[in-house]
Amino acid sequence: MPDTTIDLSELTRLLTSLSHQGRAALLPALHAAQDLYGFIPPDAVAEIGKMLAVPVEDIREVVDYYPLFYREPAGKTVIHVCNNPVCANAGAEAVMKRLSQTIEIHRQAGEPVGTLTIEYAPCLGLCEHAPAMIVQGTSVARADSLSYEDLVSGKLRHPRSIVRNEVSILTTNCGKNRVNWLSLYQASGGYKALRKALEMSPEQVIAEVKASGLQGRGGAAYPAALKWEALARMSGQPKYLVCNADEAEPGAFKDRVLLEDEPHMILEGMLIAAYATGASKGYVYVRGEYLFQYNVMLRAVQEAQNAGLLGESILGSGFCFEVEVRRGAGTYLAGEETALLESIEGKRTLPRRRPPYPAEKGLFGKPTLIHNVETLANLPYILRAGAEAYRQTGTPASPGPKLFCLSGDVTMPGLYEVPFGITLRHLLMDLAGGVRGGKRLQAVLIGGAAGAFCTEEQLDLPLTVEDLNAAGLPLGSGVITIFDETRDLRGILLRLGLFLAEESCGICPSCKMGTRRQAEILTRLATGRLASGDLDALEDTSWTAPAESICGLGQTAAVPVLSALKNWPELFSVNG
Ligand code: SF4
Repeated sequence: MPDTTIDLSELTRLLTSLSHQGRAALLPALHAAQDLYGFIPPDAVAEIGKMLAVPVEDIREVVDYYPLFYREPAGKTVIHVCNNPVCANAGAEAVMKRLSQTIEIHRQAGEPVGTLTIEYAPCLGLCEHAPAMIVQGTSVARADSLSYEDLVSGKLRHPRSIVRNEVSILTTNCGKNRVNWLSLYQASGGYKALRKALEMSPEQVIAEVKASGLQGRGGAAYPAALKWEALARMSGQPKYLVCNADEAEPGAFKDRVLLEDEPHMILEGMLIAAYATGASKGYVYVRGEYLFQYNVMLRAVQEAQNAGLLGESILGSGFCFEVEVRRGAGTYLAGEETALLESIEGKRTLPRRRPPYPAEKGLFGKPTLIHNVETLANLPYILRAGAEAYRQTGTPASPGPKLFCLSGDVTMPGLYEVPFGITLRHLLMDLAGGVRGGKRLQAVLIGGAAGAFCTEEQLDLPLTVEDLNAAGLPLGSGVITIFDETRDLRGILLRLGLFLAEESCGICPSCKMGTRRQAEILTRLATGRLASGDLDALEDTSWTAPAESICGLGQTAAVPVLSALKNWPELFSVNG
């Protein structure tokens, strides 16, 4: 039944400017509808379908798939309380309980509380501020100390990022509670690297990046220049460049800090990469929960356009490049590069089988280069200072600086920029002040939800790709989570298992069944009632065989449990 209370005129006006993109504009259109109505009503779905030429059934499927879209009316204020392991340990459940009770008390007292939707959410990327929540797009740090008055005041302030650095290449201007807008960025040498690159040939730029040894910072540590060469070899246009700013890995928040503090460093990196590879259009895909950072990027793109740093014949060079900023809608899998491409195309975030790789057939079937935010942020320095200077930081096999997201039971959680090669002990004990409250260290989880646990015995490991790989630990995107001696590791394993089962998209039967089965067993483990055969099942990794799982989630879903089994076999000796 059509809902005649919905005024579609504003939506229609917005859709008119998007309709030339067809289905590729579906997520922006859905965000626009939700911003207007607070949910996506049937009439809006019909209008979007008509204007973008997308079947209504397809749109409903997309709306139902993305957690941040609502088909039913949601509250005027939507509150997401983070319940990742770090926030859970910091009291997320108490926050949720207190929030719900306080609101109810005020409601019963007849106060104008308004309509509120309160939900748990998997990691919100605010781990250094745990327990955290997001109130209608505004991040809230230390939600346990938030008063009801703060909540309803509408004056919540986005928390300042916490940044500490032993080298200062990427984060010089981060953590200062201000965005490094264009004038500030240029005053500190910003866009000089682009000018230098434009005076070089694309081949020379690629050679410089190759000499720097820059590796991707999203998890795979693949040499950036090899991706560039593959894209540069592809003839024809268009070619695309995608900045993957959808960090949804529990424990990850480094991209958030760069997005909110240094948006032009990311754009300059994109411009350098696009010039070298021949890409003419770029997308920055920001995770849906990062509304503040999405708006920062929108404004930065506008600033760059106004200054002739984006668009036609940039700085008079003849090089043309435009950038569109996109916003995700709450799926973990959007961080997987091919799933992200699907999302830009207006579909669900279901990973693609590879080959073909994005460099051959990526966005809209065209050659595409995809880089993580941090990878792109390294490029201005590499071009400005040169590959040799870049290699002065880090190790020969892992050159450059690395951002680590340190959170959990650590005295000074935050984002750390350090040279590759410092030890975990130096990072945790010297730079971050050790385990909080003088407690003993129980476990370190490296790499996020599908990462691996290590113990105090491994603290002297150098933090490099090669050393961690040799020790069977993933560097991942640089997530390090600390658990003190009081933490219930079975409960933490259960949270990780439930998260992975929930986020599995289910297109690979092995991953779908395996993650569910693992979560069931971890539920029994957490309640002390392992059944016979459970331990064997947990150790049986056949269901995660890479050949049977398209993406990293299924391929690595057993890693945390296997590493826990290796480190603490006694945890699994429960009989019921
Ligand atoms: Fe989906 Fe899992 Fe397959 Fe990845 S491995 S595509 S999450 S089913």
